[in-house]
Amino acid sequence: MHETMNRLIKLQSVDYQLKAINEKMGNLPETVLSFEVRIQEEEEKKIQDGNRISQNKAIVIKSEGKIMDYRTKLERYQEQLYLVTTNREYDALTAEIDYAKKEISDAENIILEAEEESKNLEESIQESETLVRSLTDDLDKAKKDLDKTIQETRDEKERLEAERLEITKKVPRNILNVYERVRKARRGVAVVPIIRDACGGCNNRVIPQKRVDIYKRNKIVTCDICGRFIYSEEGCLTVDK
Ligand SMILES: [Zn+2]
Repeated sequence: MHETMNRLIKLQSVDYQLKAINEKMGNLPETVLSFEVRIQEEEEKKIQDGNRISQNKAIVIKSEGKIMDYRTKLERYQEQLYLVTTNREYDALTAEIDYAKKEISDAENIILEAEEESKNLEESIQESETLVRSLTDDLDKAKKDLDKTIQETRDEKERLEAERLEITKKVPRNILNVYERVRKARRGVAVVPIIRDACGGCNNRVIPQKRVDIYKRNKIVTCDICGRFIYSEEGCLTVDK
């Protein structure tokens, strides 16, 4: 077997094992991240709701002040009503009274709306707090699972990574670049056996000249269609897929 080809076969085997380890993690890393993002969003919502409640409190205070002012004015207008001597004065004063009553009524409505909104916001904050508690529980569980899996696979992963490094050191740079490129493009499979004269990756027939080279095992051969390295399995290391 061609020396570099043999190393590529071993490299592919190591990469399959590393891939299997990563798959053991499943979607735990993404799950952890998504819980963290959701908790953060919910916390931000709570802050916004709280800010809105503070704004409503200020609105209520301002409106109450307004109501007091207009009530004082109203009392004064009503006293003045007894003193008017002309129709014009009377009309002007009743217009002021109507205006003051309307301002008071508007301010009362604003207070009601602000209080109603704040009540809903307080309920929403309570719901957020319940949600955050349950999300935090889920996050803790996912983190624990992830840590456990990382712990369990750490030694094996380190061993495989060290092995990978040793192999890649001995593979010519240009060949390694092709390997990495094809592996990325072809779902992690860059080295395949020839199976019934066809590429074990894409199943296309290998041209006769290349077939000869593959069976002789003295050259590095790649598939014309999918670009994968093709080797002849007989008498050499078998690769679990
Ligand atoms: Zn192919």
